[in-house]
Amino acid sequence: MTEARPDPLARAHDCAQRFAERAAAHDADASFPAEDVQDLRDAGLLGLLVPTRLGGMGAGFEEYTAVATALAAGSGSSALVFNMHASVTGALAGVPDDLATQLGAPEWFFDVRDEMLRKAVAGALYGVAITERGAGSRLSALRTTFEATDGGYRLRGEKAVATGAGHVAAYLVAARSADADPDDDPRVSYFLVPHGDGVTVNATWDPLGMRATASNGLSLDVVVPVTALVGGIEGLTVLLAYAMPQWLVASYAAVYVGVAAATLAEAVRYVTRRTVTGRKGALAQVGFIRGRLGRADAAVEAARLALREAGRRVDAAAGDTETNRAIYRAKLLAGDAAMDVAASCTEACGLGALVRGSVLERLFRDARSGAIMPPSSDVCADVLGTAALGLDPMTGSEIRPW
Ligand SMILES: Cc1cc2nc3c(=O)[nH]c(=O)nc-3n(C[C@H](O)[C@H](O)[C@H](O)COP(=O)(O)OP(=O)(O)OC[C@H]3O[C@@H](n4cnc5c(N)ncnc54)[C@H](O)[C@@H]3O)c2cc1C
Repeated sequence: MTEARPDPLARAHDCAQRFAERAAAHDADASFPAEDVQDLRDAGLLGLLVPTRLGGMGAGFEEYTAVATALAAGSGSSALVFNMHASVTGALAGVPDDLATQLGAPEWFFDVRDEMLRKAVAGALYGVAITERGAGSRLSALRTTFEATDGGYRLRGEKAVATGAGHVAAYLVAARSADADPDDDPRVSYFLVPHGDGVTVNATWDPLGMRATASNGLSLDVVVPVTALVGGIEGLTVLLAYAMPQWLVASYAAVYVGVAAATLAEAVRYVTRRTVTGRKGALAQVGFIRGRLGRADAAVEAARLALREAGRRVDAAAGDTETNRAIYRAKLLAGDAAMDVAASCTEACGLGALVRGSVLERLFRDARSGAIMPPSSDVCADVLGTAALGLDPMTGSEIRPW
C-alpha cells in the first residue's frame, strides 16, 4: 500500500500555532526565529516545493501560496523566512528539464540542482541576496560582480538585505559580470553561495516591522566552484525575471495576504473581548466597527482570490502574458490589503491595538512592509496600468521593474 501524501496545509496550520506563541519575543528583540524554522523542518515543509522523486512534497505554486498564507497567521516574519527558502527551491524545481536544456544548461546542472533540493528535504534552509543600496532589487542595476577564476567564480560586493543572513545554509546571490559593459548587457547571473568563508554578516537589521527575519546585510568576497552558477548559464537572471516573475513577485503576496487575514482575526478577537462601559464585547455592537471588519473581510478575501488565481495560472501556464498580469495583480492587492486592513482594524480597536507588545501593533508594523517588497506596489500598478493601456507591460513605460 502506498503511503498517503502528507497534508502540507494542515502542517502549516500546526506550525502557525506554535509560531504565534513565540512571535512577540522575537519581534521585541529582532531575533531570528530558529525554533520556527525547526518546526518547518520537522513538518517536512522545507521540502514543500521539492519533487516527490527527490523526497519532497511536490507542491506547485498555488499550494505554496496557501501554505505561506497559513504560516503568516502565526508570524509574518517566519512566513517570510519560509518564502525566501521556497523561492529558491520552487524556482529551481519549477524549471522543466527540457526548457533548461533548450536554454543551454550543461549536464552537471541537473545533478547539482537535485542535490541542492535533496538537502532542502533534509533540512537545509536557503535565502536570497539580491538587494543593494542604490539599486534596490532592480537586477539590471546591481553592482556586485562575478569574474571567472581557476575552476570557479569570485563574487565581490555588498548586499543590503538578506532574510535569514547568518542562519541559512546558502544564499541565492545575484551578481553582474565584472567584464560586461553594464550599459549593454550586465549578464546578471544567480549563484548559490554557501554561508561560510568570504561571506560576512553585517548587523544592520533593526526595522519597524518583519523584525524577526534577521534580514541583515552581507559583504561578499568569496570564491565558489563553477557549479555554483545556477543553471550553468551566465546572464539569465533578468530574462527570467521578466519572463517568469512568480517567485520574485507573487510569493510575497502570500505572506501579506496571511498578515492581512491575521489582522482581521485578531481584531475580531479584540472587539469581542474588550469591555467598554461595563459591557464585554460592546465594540462589536458598534455599527461602524462592524463595517470596518466587513470591509477588511472583503479586502482579505479579494486579495486571497486574486492570489489563488495567480497560483492556478502559474501551475497551468507559467510565463504566459495573462499569468504574469495575474502575478502583478496579486502582489499589488496583497500589499494594499495588508496595509488597509491593518490601518482600519487598528483604528477600530483604538489604543489597545497600538500598545507596544500587542498582537495588533505587531501586525500593523509587519503589514507596512508588504507594499515596499519587490516590486513595490507603485511599480506593480505601473506594470498593470501600462498593460491596461495596451502597451507592453514590461517595456511600455519608463519604469523597468527589473
Ligand atoms: C522584511 C524585508 C525582508 C527583505 N528580505 C530580502 C531578502 O531576503 N533578500 C533581498 O535581496 N532583499 C530583501 N529585502 C529588500 C527588498 O527587496 C527591498 O526593500 C526592495 O527591493 C526595495 O528596495 P529599497 O527598499 O532599497 O527601495 P528602492 O529600490 O530605493 O525603492 C524606493 C521606492 O522607489 C520606487 N521604485 C522601486 N522600483 C522602481 C523602479 N524600477 N523604477 C522607479 N521607481 C521604483 C518604489 O516606489 C519604491 O518603494 C527585504 C525587505 C524587507 C522589508
